[in-house]
Amino acid sequence: MSASVIYMDNNATTRVAPEVLDAMLPFFSERYGNPSSMHSFGGAVGKEMREARESLAGLLGCAPDEIIFTSCGTESDNTAIRSALTAQPEKRHIVTTRVEHPAVLSLCKFLERSQGYRVTYLGVDSEGRLDLQELEESLSDDTAIVSIMWANNETGVIFPIPEIAKLVKSRGIMMHTDAVQAVGKLDINLQELDVDMLSLSGHKLHAPKGIGALYVRRKLPYRPFLIGGHQEHGRRAGTENTTSIIALGAAARAAKAHLPIENTRVRALRDKLENGLLAVVPDSRLNGHKQDRLPNTSNISFKYIEGEAILLLLDQLGIAASSGSACTSGSLEPSHVLRAMGVPFTFAHGSIRFSLSRYTTEEEVDYVIKNVPPIIETLRKISPYKQGETEPLDPRKPACGC
Ligand SMILES: *Cc1c(COP(=O)(O)O)cnc(C)c1O
Repeated sequence: MSASVIYMDNNATTRVAPEVLDAMLPFFSERYGNPSSMHSFGGAVGKEMREARESLAGLLGCAPDEIIFTSCGTESDNTAIRSALTAQPEKRHIVTTRVEHPAVLSLCKFLERSQGYRVTYLGVDSEGRLDLQELEESLSDDTAIVSIMWANNETGVIFPIPEIAKLVKSRGIMMHTDAVQAVGKLDINLQELDVDMLSLSGHKLHAPKGIGALYVRRKLPYRPFLIGGHQEHGRRAGTENTTSIIALGAAARAAKAHLPIENTRVRALRDKLENGLLAVVPDSRLNGHKQDRLPNTSNISFKYIEGEAILLLLDQLGIAASSGSACTSGSLEPSHVLRAMGVPFTFAHGSIRFSLSRYTTEEEVDYVIKNVPPIIETLRKISPYKQGETEPLDPRKPACGC
């Protein structure tokens, strides 16, 4: 890790793992062939790409031909939802949640406003959990697709996707999950799941930015988003991003090897950080369910102050974290996820997300535990909110700020 930054923003993006960088570099220089070419110079790259596909399939517990490489998690999400709608033109209803990433939420809002689809946005409770009864009641013969994220990027809260998928499939409805934050952090075995489509993104699991994948169950009706050449078996046209696909394969192998570590060492560091801060800072609270949560994520609110102010002071100390979600930071809108959970206004504004990785060290955690409390104390002295003041009502409409 670069000595100059304590990086606790791994849900925004991750460092490319050294072994991943090593695996991809030759494909920029001496091995630049096109895998579609007839010559062996290109064909050899195709072989490496097949191995990458097998590695990713190994991490997900699916068949290699069920994976389509895309340009990012956003493309995977858009492709999955649009494919379901195009393949079943008679169905006009979508079910999703209020806490999705904008890659799903903004698309659903667009489809609702401009294309006349009906969308159900399921709510969450104060700990960020779904009500499965509400989900069941929302399903109808008109429902084309249910798209529900596996783990929330802001709070780390995990939805019970195996159970949800079973329920959705029992009604014969297509099930998609945005698993961008779950892949590499949770055990996933698609063979045992009723999930039809699953999105992931390379840069959230130590591969480069600009590569993603979409799992599509064999025999599922599928309609491509990008139409052109025959790449990805005609399911996603465009010359393959060979370097990044090979990197994603290496990242999948590394993720598989590190999964048990993520679940023990990283979780212990996260718990130390979280407990250390919550115990010392008055008027602080954890956002999201304590147990049903990614092992690397901690979203903590510090009452009466702005998350952005905390971030600036953390930045001066070389600590990189985020407030709300990366897409809403820079505006003073509280996060749509925290608002869906009903987090009180004076808490929601002072939320900070710490997200750790396999590269996080105990020294880094100790440094953060030592430096955050004085920052909070300083900011509260100059806070415009009077401490102990009654909760002001948030006049703003719930809407994603992206
Ligand atoms: C980051 C993220 C995305 C978007 O992935 P990109 O590769 O950046 O497009 C989608 N969903 C979730 C949950 C994410 O965290």
